[in-house]
Amino acid sequence: MASNVYRNGTGSHKGAMRPLAASNSSNVKSSSFKSRIPPSSNHSPGSAPLRRSNSAGGSDGVPGRVRVAVRLRPRNAEESVADADFADCVELQPELKRLKLRKNNWDSETYEFDEVLTEFASQKRVYEVVAKPVVESVLDGYNGTVMAYGQTGTGKTFTLGRLGEEDTSARGIMVRSMEEILANVSPETDSVSVSYLQLYMETIQDLLDPANDNISIVEDPKTGDVSLPGATHVEIRDEQDFMELLRTGEAHRIAANTKLNTESSRSHAILMVHVKRSVLGAEDVIPSETDKSSHFAKPPKPLVRKSKLVLVDLAGSERVHKSGSEGHMLEEAKSINLSLSALGKCINALAENSAHVPVRDSKLTRLLRDSFGGTARTSLIVTIGPSPRHRGETTSTILFGQRAMKVENMLRIKEEFDYKSLSRKLEIQLDQLIAENERQQKVFDDEVERINLEALNRVSEVERNFADALEKERLKCQMEYMESVKKLEEKMIENQQKHGCDGFMKDKCNGEGPGSSIVEDVAEIKKLLEKEIHTRKEAEEEVNKLKSQLGECPDSGEGGGSEILKLQKALADEVRQKKKLEEEMIILRSQMLQLTFEADQMRRCLGRNGSANAYGGLDSPMSQVRDSLNAHKTPVAALFEQVGLQKILALLESEDANVRIHAVKVVANLAAEEANQERIVEAGGLTSLLMLLRSYEDENIRRVVAGAIANLAMNETNQELIMIQGGINLLSVTASRAEDPQTLRMVAGAIANLCGNDKLQTKLRSEGGIKALLGMARCGHPDVLSQVARGIANFAKCESRVSTNGSIVFLLHDLITNPGIKSGRSVLINDGALPWIVQNANNDSSPIRRHIELALCHLAQHEVNAKDMISGGALWELVRISRDCSREDIRSLARRTLNLSPIFRAEMRRLRIEV
Ligand code: ADP
Ligand code: MG
Repeated sequence: MASNVYRNGTGSHKGAMRPLAASNSSNVKSSSFKSRIPPSSNHSPGSAPLRRSNSAGGSDGVPGRVRVAVRLRPRNAEESVADADFADCVELQPELKRLKLRKNNWDSETYEFDEVLTEFASQKRVYEVVAKPVVESVLDGYNGTVMAYGQTGTGKTFTLGRLGEEDTSARGIMVRSMEEILANVSPETDSVSVSYLQLYMETIQDLLDPANDNISIVEDPKTGDVSLPGATHVEIRDEQDFMELLRTGEAHRIAANTKLNTESSRSHAILMVHVKRSVLGAEDVIPSETDKSSHFAKPPKPLVRKSKLVLVDLAGSERVHKSGSEGHMLEEAKSINLSLSALGKCINALAENSAHVPVRDSKLTRLLRDSFGGTARTSLIVTIGPSPRHRGETTSTILFGQRAMKVENMLRIKEEFDYKSLSRKLEIQLDQLIAENERQQKVFDDEVERINLEALNRVSEVERNFADALEKERLKCQMEYMESVKKLEEKMIENQQKHGCDGFMKDKCNGEGPGSSIVEDVAEIKKLLEKEIHTRKEAEEEVNKLKSQLGECPDSGEGGGSEILKLQKALADEVRQKKKLEEEMIILRSQMLQLTFEADQMRRCLGRNGSANAYGGLDSPMSQVRDSLNAHKTPVAALFEQVGLQKILALLESEDANVRIHAVKVVANLAAEEANQERIVEAGGLTSLLMLLRSYEDENIRRVVAGAIANLAMNETNQELIMIQGGINLLSVTASRAEDPQTLRMVAGAIANLCGNDKLQTKLRSEGGIKALLGMARCGHPDVLSQVARGIANFAKCESRVSTNGSIVFLLHDLITNPGIKSGRSVLINDGALPWIVQNANNDSSPIRRHIELALCHLAQHEVNAKDMISGGALWELVRISRDCSREDIRSLARRTLNLSPIFRAEMRRLRIEV
């Protein structure tokens, strides 16, 4: 009721001050009850920037007169009976929005209202015409007031406060307003809170907290805004919350009135609904300093709109006129009615544009300062009863409404920057940035860690590679060193060979050089041996002596016992000593044997004057050994006799690796001599050797053992024994694991020998012998290749014997052991040997070449092989052999074989080849 600022202008409403005669043409324009407020930016997004206003200034308010509706209560039961013979004191013309007040039977006065609601008006309609526009304004950010004025019992509470719990159509304005507000606010950005108060005898009581019974009104000196900081504000989220709140308030109102010995009709009930909504303001436009035409737009600022809906169920208006009538003291009655009469005075002053509006006279008028003559949209509903008995009260109510219709408000939105929400938003943003920063920091740390780890790995890998390379380099250097030493040695031997017999003779004559040193060694070892024999004899004599002493010595009590013990110990020592000496003797003998053998070989080599080719013949490599041993049989044989075969074989199982290897060497050397082979096998030597092959990892031992077995495998009986004892398999395994070409040479030699035995053909294949033989070709060393080729030739020769000679014995044997082999292709072809054979048929090394040439001839003798041989390119090799082979016998064998085979003949005819 800031009358000075919001003074009603002259305008059209002046005429409404006076009751209108029914015949008079109304100069009060029947304005619509609907809002005239232009649509806010809330309802039309994208429209012009929000009109911003605040209570501190701004003159862009919208005029908004207080709207007044009149509602007639239907006759109640009592009135229906008592007033049965009288007409109602009012007659309503709702379509004209007019009300006729009967003075008497012949005179009446007509009043025009913004809305005239008959006794039949529904609660819904009442809400829609009276309260809805106000509620909508509140949602738009304006303050709003809906107030009921009237005599007690005319339906103020019915209109405003009905809960309509049993009948929803009976819900009053309070419930419906709240429903509408809740339906339109957003729980995320907006808030709704409620206070519920009672004003009685100038005291404001909190209906939500009865203990709070003297709430003071606070006015903002700058804006003039009034507030009740002491009142309870309850946040409302849904309708249930609100209904609960109204029930609580009503219960407290009844309790408070009982306590004060009053009734609710004498107090004013005030419900305040605070609505806070967030909206985005307009973009701030900042003109650039240099270019006035260009603009930098800032993002819109968050704004908050705080509005308040005040619903007032006033005390009965009759008190104004009947003060003291119900037994109250005059002062008390004055106090009871002070607020209501002050309200009347203020409205009168506002209606009359009076200079002074006594707003401060009562708490009610202070509370409703904004509702009348302020910035709020206000609707007043005046309620009247039909009874002519209360005509006076009804008239004064109508006049009150008429005066209120003249009050002009200036509606303004209360809008301010939402610093809270801005700070909340910024806080959230800050938190998000902090979280993001932390995440990125973590990613960064992880990345750093990963790079560190990678770097460490790389460094260690480089270190490892470097170490490997260093080691490789070291090994390479070592190898090169050894290689050059070897080359030097070879050169030396070559030189010696070049010098020939002369040199040797010279060595022999002057007693120097390798030959003579070996002779010296032998002599020395012989000496040592004799010394050992002598020591042994002495030891034996000593033992015998002690034994006889022991025999002579009778039991001589305890002293004698200890003597015996001593002697027994000495005896045991002696026996141990003896055993050791014996072992040493054996080792010495075997060493001597070895040396003798080596000396023989050396001599033989030198004797040949370098002309003899070690691998010149087609025989096994061991044959040279055999030859050399045959030629110098006597010393070996003598040593063999001296040591005894059994003892040497026993040493094969010695714990001492040195002894074992010597023993194996000796056995291998002995096995090279045909005469010894049978005896070695008889004494279990072959079994021991095979055992060694099976159980020893050391390739040195395996090499020598394989050599010994190869020697023994020259004999046909031994070949079968080797097979029976699983030798083929053992040799195959040894071949697959061997790395040293010399080991491979020995194994290949052994298998090659076995390949020459017709009876072993099947076993050789089934136990992997052939595969192992072919596999050894991988080594590429000519010595090994030569043995492989020899094995293939031997095998092919046996196969051709079975197929061409048709020995019934072999056929039967094959049929029994492997029926599939009888008339099938060569096992060699089946096992994939043909490409290797063809490839090496013209090998530079003549021993290899000869063996393969023979193998090809043998394979070609079996007609079943012919096609594979043709497709594998073997025919060309055979033709070459038949023409170019330096050996006459092989040449003619090839020619004969080719001419005998119909398939080869046909192919040669086709190719126009003649042999
Ligand atoms: P007030 O609050 O003005 O003293 P109430 O609202 O208590 O009056 O109403 C008094 C009685 O009249 C109640 O019993 C109420 O139900 C009844 N009443 C009021 N208005 C109406 C109406 N429009 N239609 C039916 N009954 C009404
Ligand atoms: Mg009431």
